[in-house]
Amino acid sequence: MAIQQHKVILDESEMPTRWYNLLADLPTPPPPPLHPGTGQPVGPDDLTPIFPMDLIAQEVTTERYVDIPEEVQEVYRLWRPSPLYRAHRLEKALGTPARIYYKYEGVSPAGSHKPNTAVPQAYYNAKAGIKKLTSETGAGQWGTSLAFACAQFGLECEIWQVRASYDGKPYRKIMIETFGATIHPSPSDLTDAGRAVLATNPDSPGSLGLAISEAVEVAAQDPDANYALGSVLNHVLLHQTIIGEEALLQLAKIGETADLIVGCTGGGSNFGGLTFPFIREKLAAGGAGPIIRAVEPASCPSLTQGVYAYDFGDVAGLTPLLKMHTLGHDFMPDPIHAGGLRYHGMSPIISHLYEEGMIEAVAKTQKDCFAAGVLFAQTEGILPAPESTHAIAAAVDAANAATAAGDQTCIVIALSGHGHVDMMAYDAYLRGGLVDHTWADTELQESVAKALTRLPEIANS
Ligand SMILES: *Cc1c(COP(=O)(O)O)cnc(C)c1O
Repeated sequence: MAIQQHKVILDESEMPTRWYNLLADLPTPPPPPLHPGTGQPVGPDDLTPIFPMDLIAQEVTTERYVDIPEEVQEVYRLWRPSPLYRAHRLEKALGTPARIYYKYEGVSPAGSHKPNTAVPQAYYNAKAGIKKLTSETGAGQWGTSLAFACAQFGLECEIWQVRASYDGKPYRKIMIETFGATIHPSPSDLTDAGRAVLATNPDSPGSLGLAISEAVEVAAQDPDANYALGSVLNHVLLHQTIIGEEALLQLAKIGETADLIVGCTGGGSNFGGLTFPFIREKLAAGGAGPIIRAVEPASCPSLTQGVYAYDFGDVAGLTPLLKMHTLGHDFMPDPIHAGGLRYHGMSPIISHLYEEGMIEAVAKTQKDCFAAGVLFAQTEGILPAPESTHAIAAAVDAANAATAAGDQTCIVIALSGHGHVDMMAYDAYLRGGLVDHTWADTELQESVAKALTRLPEIANS
């Protein structure tokens, strides 16, 4: 009897050795980042206080492929290639004719896709002679990933964790410290940005935008330190494309083609990482190919309810201005449990793709997402990260629609991580303690308008 195949595994020797740069193939380029003082596109000199030259070059390159350094490949092979699974048991539970696959990034040292970029970022900084990396972390995934990556290349690592997560998720803090990094709650009294917030609100739960300000401030003032960002920027999405390159090989191995790809979007890196190589194939095929759908939380809906405008990446306004879908740089999202999706902005490339109609977006409330996450855990045996449940919920919606239509569609889920360090969120859901939060368009328009009036005049004029 033929066995039912669940996993599509690539050998270590089959791991892709190049990242893919979608900028090389886009019909029109996204608008460039601007210097807040001059209104001109930022040049390399504006970025050298916080980034090494190799990453600055990757941020703006129009080369189609970038070779993955051998040293980075060696670390990747600790967990890559990651498996692609057929979700037979989820399909059965849903009674759907749809074929559902998931590309699982929870097998990494941090339990998510984030080490895919943390490792090359640490590598290029170490190569440039940098001694320390600073960064922020929300749910703790990025901090864990960067702490691990710094340990691989002998760098110090200092992390500011959003206060609400620092208090609510002690296990991430312990992982970060175990990997050898130091960690502070944000707001902290170690920076001007943190002290300014503490002065008006000593009990501030913090936000990702504020933690970024603190980490950037420290890196900018120390010549031996640089800053590392875990999402949003072009070079981060570039590094994540190894996910999609592997997935294309895996689907080809079993003769499958995707009709729909769903992924959750915080800043857009796991979504871009899986989908950009598929968008390359779609562009090459004159537009024929899978529907590509981003899934965001209803409580932080930057694509579906934000505006497309130049905005800062952080609260204090230290970053270049990025043209992106934004809820305003001082937006304080409701403390939802999917901490990795609580960011006010969206990757400029993904915002651009959305404007150009090349991708779709939907927003989901957290109770629907956890319901899908629990079903996934009970059928597939993987307890997904709260962020990843958004993608699963959208896949369940699509599978149910396929069932109604009698449609044998092929759905691929970006399963960005596991939720083993997010058990309190599941506890809250199982005990009925989660509340859904959605925004009226008018509420968000007010918040965005307020943030945008504080921008330098040159932006958005
Ligand atoms: C950080 C994180 C996200 C959100 O970040 P993106 O850059 O949008 O991918 C999603 N899932 C997991 C598991 C994360 O840790």
